[in-house]
Amino acid sequence: METKILVTGGAGYIGSHVVKALGEAGHSVLTYDNLSTGNRWAVLHGELVEGDLADRDTLRRVMREFQPAAVMHFAASIVVPESVREPLKYYRNNTANALNLLDVMAEQGIGRFIFSSTAAVYGIPTSIPVDEQAPLSPINPYGSAKAMVEQILRDLAFARDDFRYVALRYFNVAGADGQSRIGQAYREATHLITRALKTAKGESDKLQVFGTDYPTADGTCIRDYIHVDDLASAHLLALDYLLRGGESDVFNCGYGHGYSVREVVDVARRVTGVDFAVEETERRAGDPPALVADSTKLKGALGWQPRHDDLEYIVRTAWEWERQRQ
Ligand code: UDP
Repeated sequence: METKILVTGGAGYIGSHVVKALGEAGHSVLTYDNLSTGNRWAVLHGELVEGDLADRDTLRRVMREFQPAAVMHFAASIVVPESVREPLKYYRNNTANALNLLDVMAEQGIGRFIFSSTAAVYGIPTSIPVDEQAPLSPINPYGSAKAMVEQILRDLAFARDDFRYVALRYFNVAGADGQSRIGQAYREATHLITRALKTAKGESDKLQVFGTDYPTADGTCIRDYIHVDDLASAHLLALDYLLRGGESDVFNCGYGHGYSVREVVDVARRVTGVDFAVEETERRAGDPPALVADSTKLKGALGWQPRHDDLEYIVRTAWEWERQRQ
């Protein structure tokens, strides 16, 4: 059945992959994006309205006219070290703007919401892999801003019978569309895999490895890298769940095993065939040593079946995408 979905940030990296998946599933999609980091060409399906979440009038008009059955909210700032330097930007873009969106949804009587949360809400987990019951204890403003929205969602769902949400806590999202139509296109790449590939491409002379003295097997940080199309499929399952009357809930999105920075570097060198230079430097502010998901709940309750649990595939799709960009 065709359902109308409003997607904030649908022109961005993760949002655009979800818009693609929604289109393939036959849904009607409206993307609301201020194009601050997103791109018009990335919206492969439905209409794009250029608008800011701070602009309540435009948001209200779009919501009133489109009357979505659910809202998926991707629009946010996502760079952990930037959040340490510029916390207000993160509380404004990620917390205050989410509040605006929820306000307008309430006014317009729209009560189904899927939220892009993050593993950064856990801070430094006391045990790995981390499940959804672990305490929320973020160690950077990016994680705090997202944890605040989760708190708002819990309170709102408690207060209002007609409001239900799913918060998906993303681990490290990477890779690109298998046909290289969309992928990461940030003006300034900060994520490890993208930085490694840009180095292989010759855009920088070396890849910095931030910290080699972490309490991990090889001293570098461990992350659970999940392919963006598998993350997109989790969103479609969450949508079906909510539309079938599911209760508000929270799910980790990751594969359940992690790779160190050095292991990622090895795979990137192998996939690209370029033995690019690496420089070991100081730790970067705000980085927990290891983040690995226990995603039993996503698999059990929503029936999620990942198709790309393979770091080589993740890096290869990202490389194919990266190679054909200017
Ligand atoms: N990292 C690195 N060099 C880079 C970018 C990232 O060593 O150029 C490390 C970073 O310190 C972290 C891991 O790679 O330990 C993943 O960082 P990323 O920025 O990709 O994602 P995050 O985990 O911060 O969301």
